[in-house]
Amino acid sequence: MKFKYVIVGAGLAGLTVAERIANELNEKVLVIEKRGHIGGNVYDSYNNDGILIHNYGPHIFHTNDREVYLYLSKFTKWNDFWHRVLTYVDGNLVPMPITVETINKLYNLNLDCFQVEEFLKQQAEDIKEVKTSKDVALSKVGQDIYEKIFETYTKKQWGVDPGQLDTSVISRIPIRLNRDTRYFADKYQGMPSHGYTKMCENMVANKNIKIMLNTDYKEVMDQIDYDYLIYTGPTDEFYNYKHGKLAYRSIRFEFETFDLEEYQEAPVVNYPNDYDYTRITEFKKLTWQKHNKTTICKEFPCAEGEPYYPFPTKDCKAQFALYEEEMKKETNVIFLGRLAEYRYYNMDAVVRRAIDVFKELSNNVR
Ligand code: FAD
Repeated sequence: MKFKYVIVGAGLAGLTVAERIANELNEKVLVIEKRGHIGGNVYDSYNNDGILIHNYGPHIFHTNDREVYLYLSKFTKWNDFWHRVLTYVDGNLVPMPITVETINKLYNLNLDCFQVEEFLKQQAEDIKEVKTSKDVALSKVGQDIYEKIFETYTKKQWGVDPGQLDTSVISRIPIRLNRDTRYFADKYQGMPSHGYTKMCENMVANKNIKIMLNTDYKEVMDQIDYDYLIYTGPTDEFYNYKHGKLAYRSIRFEFETFDLEEYQEAPVVNYPNDYDYTRITEFKKLTWQKHNKTTICKEFPCAEGEPYYPFPTKDCKAQFALYEEEMKKETNVIFLGRLAEYRYYNMDAVVRRAIDVFKELSNNVR
């Protein structure tokens, strides 16, 4: 079989490039996917009770990148959902990320924005060199808030102390000196009106795109000729683990359906200190589906299972750098996406990267 373009992986990265090749270049493209469905981790489906769930954990679309938003809007309409998260601390549900409301509720105070700024300054520790996620938290909010909100949650999430993780983990969580209790402050937010899977199906509704499901690319590659391979699978697998297996954190998802209209106060409730799970998502609160039952998902982070989050430590980055040296030598293989680049991408960032990769590719072939 001969295809000019072959893509491994039908996640958002692979599908965006496939769509661009098929529609912009009007060329045929083969997508090879190990799982029995397209969409990668954004895949959603209706469960036995008819409730739309996110099979690989809750996915909320948010971006400031107008081009990405307009691009995906060609394949879906959106609901105007604004994400909100509550965190269960000391018997109270407080807004996350930390806002003026969070501080007032945690400490039974009635401070205004300026007073909260002053309060946090007094709590914050003077850390000379911020090297780890623990340093980030202590330097911004001090020991007590660190223990209440960040320490145990991060331990549950990563299985190690925040002092062993690089700064990226806790730096991602903003601290707001205002009353904006939305989880994300991005300009464009929402959920695809008919779900992510439907959006993905619309992306590949072009007969130039051939999709091979339930197929590990290694089983078929020796029978396929290509000019360009766009690889979105794990890099260590591509190189037969010659520099060792890259570490990932996984999650076990536990779904439960209740004969209730509503289960909890917010779409997501975090449990930093209680229980073994990190958070509970109630899907109807994301999708706005009307149903007399409701489905929730509890997340239990674990070491084994699907590779979800690249491990954010110096050693893991150094190990990946060995693979990067190999990747640079490839002439017709493009590594793209969260597994191939061993980095956490939000959906908008991976689509942005895929659009840019396509632009570069099309400049080379034109
Ligand atoms: P993937 O979606 O993982 O796609 C890669 C594909 O390659 C997979 O389908 C895989 O089966 C396939 N593959 C792997 N190996 C092979 C092989 N050997 N042969 C063939 N196929 C193979 N982003 C947000 O913006 N908002 C959120 O709220 C959000 N929540 C998230 C929650 C969780 C729990 C996780 C893990 C991620 C979340 N993300 C979120 C990030 C989002 O999932 C990613 O941005 C997106 O999935 C990345 O797309 P991708 O194509 O790079 O990877």
